Amino acid sequence: MKIEGSCHCRGVRFSVETQHPSPFMRCYCSVCRKTQGGGGYAINLSGDARSLKVRGKQHLKVYRARIQNPEDARARKSTGQRNFCGRCGSALWLYDPTWPELIHPFASAIDTPLPEAPELVHIMLEFKPDWVPLQAGKKDKKFPRYPKESIAEWHQRHGAEVE
Ligand SMILES: [Zn+2]
Ligand SMILES: [Zn+2]
Repeated sequence: MKIEGSCHCRGVRFSVETQHPSPFMRCYCSVCRKTQGGGGYAINLSGDARSLKVRGKQHLKVYRARIQNPEDARARKSTGQRNFCGRCGSALWLYDPTWPELIHPFASAIDTPLPEAPELVHIMLEFKPDWVPLQAGKKDKKFPRYPKESIAEWHQRHGAEVE
């Protein structure tokens, strides 16, 4: 399906084709929290990078986070390119050249109605501050960092892939 998204000021609008439109993942890492506000749930969908169409490119800015996990001696620059609107600050999508065929729009930027996920996956809980509530259902899965299951595999397991 084609999903359409925009930033809050509507300076940037975009569309992308996706087979994996269920926003099932809540990420509790500090990058999501600080760059997106609130509980920081960057719910990454995945779409086909070749189908991405963008209007208002002049407003786009890219943030590459510096990441330092407790076990790391030094911080490293993330390969993930977080695209956001430089005018209103809305987070739009993440692109990582490690997976050049994929684009990961943030569900928060999508205007097309998305399917409700039957099960949520809570990730990066190691980095969740105490004030952020973990509102997990009985079937939800929880991980201290990343799960092994990919976005595509989650959709296959739930029969949630779309054309
Ligand atoms: Zn904007
Ligand atoms: Zn995160």
